[in-house]
Amino acid sequence: MRVVPSVNPLAFPLKREARESNVSGMILRSDIQTADIKAQAPLVDPFGRAISYIRVSVTDRCDFRCVYCMSEDMNFLPKRDLLTLEELDRLCSAFVERGTRKIRITGGEPLVRRDIMTLFRSLSRHLQAGALEEVTVTTNGSQLARFAQELADCGVRRINVSMDTLDPDKFRAITRWGDLSRVMQGLDAAQAAGLSIKINAVALKGFNEAEAPKMIEWAHGRGMDITFIEVMPLGEIDGARIDQYLPLSQLRAQLLDRFTLEDSDYQTGGPARYVRVKETGGRLGFITPLTHNFCEGCNRVRVTCTGTLYMCLGQEDAADLRGPLRASESNEVLFRAMEEAIARKPKGHDFVIDRVTRTPAVGRHMSVTGG
Ligand code: SAM
Ligand code: SF4
Repeated sequence: MRVVPSVNPLAFPLKREARESNVSGMILRSDIQTADIKAQAPLVDPFGRAISYIRVSVTDRCDFRCVYCMSEDMNFLPKRDLLTLEELDRLCSAFVERGTRKIRITGGEPLVRRDIMTLFRSLSRHLQAGALEEVTVTTNGSQLARFAQELADCGVRRINVSMDTLDPDKFRAITRWGDLSRVMQGLDAAQAAGLSIKINAVALKGFNEAEAPKMIEWAHGRGMDITFIEVMPLGEIDGARIDQYLPLSQLRAQLLDRFTLEDSDYQTGGPARYVRVKETGGRLGFITPLTHNFCEGCNRVRVTCTGTLYMCLGQEDAADLRGPLRASESNEVLFRAMEEAIARKPKGHDFVIDRVTRTPAVGRHMSVTGG
């Protein structure tokens, strides 16, 4: 009898066949799932939000030290605490079984994790099977010249590249260690590989607000979207958040002097709200966790490289999935832990940046939870 694979994610697999695939010179033994067994129930939180999107931070390490993200001397996790790439694959696949349709690989800097392409390669089977809609990546671009083509070969179609300025000296200052020309080479390689790019820029008071129109024209001139992000109070950094914080309502008002911003209903499943810039014809996004949070539509959770599940970027509550993952080869224990955690997903975050509130909303840095 011929089994016709279903593309319905909820009808996606329980039966597994082990298969060996040769990835980047490594042999990865991965569980290949077939689509002929009954659905698993999707994960739905107490507010009726179905969890269809996970962001997976594959490392907390990074080759940059952006001033709003990290302090200069960071303590990173011991490597022994990290999930292996095979465990990350199994965890992602468990979420796919429970209704995840999008996976964003992030960090730290995801492309500095050794053999990371193995994970992209193995996740691509879910794209091929139709169980996943997309795998995306958020990167600082430093390693893109090396990996862009391979990412495209693994089925990645869209990437986010973080870049807060077009000025090489300012770029070095804001990232402490970054080289803008390498990131530019990475963008060239990504476009040559056919990846569509969104530039992410954190809006920083007195740093890039005057440059914003130029960055928009540059990005749109290269056929890239660009999104500005409000700085969030995550983790201790050198200096005060209030000195960095630029409300996007203010930036938007400044942009209106130069551009006509037209409403757009474009959505990517993330938190950005988009407008179309009439003069350039390009898309401009705003991520405004402070001035206007969009928690009511939140379909996301985040998993760290140690298998800790954060149900909200801006809350401390978390669940350990590494223990349940390692407890049994079957996913039943893991599924129970995922269900219990999602049942605690809060309604939203309560970020505050002002002169009175001195402590960050959460102690961990963005590089731990992943952007
Ligand atoms: N290293 C990769 C990168 O920079 O794209 C991925 C990880 S980084 C933590 C993900 C995103 O978070 C980046 O766009 C970065 O600018 C943003 N980010 C880091 N710290 C932030 C903060 N405190 N507030 C807002 N965005 C932040
Ligand atoms: Fe690294 Fe990204 Fe954080 Fe910058 S924002 S320090 S590139 S993890």
